Amino acid sequence: MSRVAKKSNKIGNLNIGGHVYKVKHMKDVNKKDGRMLLGLHDVKEQTIMVDIDLQKSRKVETLLHEVLHVIYTNTGCDHDERAIDALSNGLMQLGVGNFIWDKVKRV
Ligand SMILES: [Zn+2]
Repeated sequence: MSRVAKKSNKIGNLNIGGHVYKVKHMKDVNKKDGRMLLGLHDVKEQTIMVDIDLQKSRKVETLLHEVLHVIYTNTGCDHDERAIDALSNGLMQLGVGNFIWDKVKRV
């Protein structure tokens, strides 16, 4: 986590179900298998991270994806990546991604 924190910078805050999450940029964070992570969330730290080098539309979609993870986690629902991908893709097309991105308070 310290590697992530050192290379991050805050985008803003987002209230998700009454919990204020810090939304931050991260850079070059890899999974254990070596693949690069585009985003991640941390329930205990109430943080969502988005890769700083993504184009804006990818950042928006990644934020939406991580917000969906948080919503499922907040409600104790089981979920998997394919379901999250399907929902984030569909909601992105409806403009929900940009709506959420704009809600993040700039700092
Ligand atoms: Zn995911």
